Amino acid sequence: MMKSKEVICVQCPLACRIQVEMAEDGTISGISNNRCKRGAEYAAQEVTNPVRILTSTVSIVTDDPEHPMLPVQTSAAIPQKLLLEAMKVIANTTVQAPVHYDQVLIPNILGTGVDVVSTTEVLH
Ligand code: SF4
Repeated sequence: MMKSKEVICVQCPLACRIQVEMAEDGTISGISNNRCKRGAEYAAQEVTNPVRILTSTVSIVTDDPEHPMLPVQTSAAIPQKLLLEAMKVIANTTVQAPVHYDQVLIPNILGTGVDVVSTTEVLH
């Protein structure tokens, strides 16, 4: 039996409501209502292996009272199913100032090939 799933594309402000048809074994048999190829690729990814950018904070050893925690994010999207585990790794991480903008703090988190980087700088 075929299944149909609707995916709202977030790749541009048009927010197309894309229909994805899937066979029982999960393979995609059709994609419609997308206005461009980018949307089809996004919808296929969403139904097979959804990914998200993870934003969070890590503890930082600093004498800057304005930054008791350091904001971080993944340098690219990681599989949604790994978000909780990645949050645990981030929660157990403490870094030492100075930290620069976009500095890699946790390389290759959970073997994803994606780094966790700082989104601000704390210089002392
Ligand atoms: S399918 Fe294409 S046009 Fe539609 S929202 Fe996605 S990126 Fe935009």
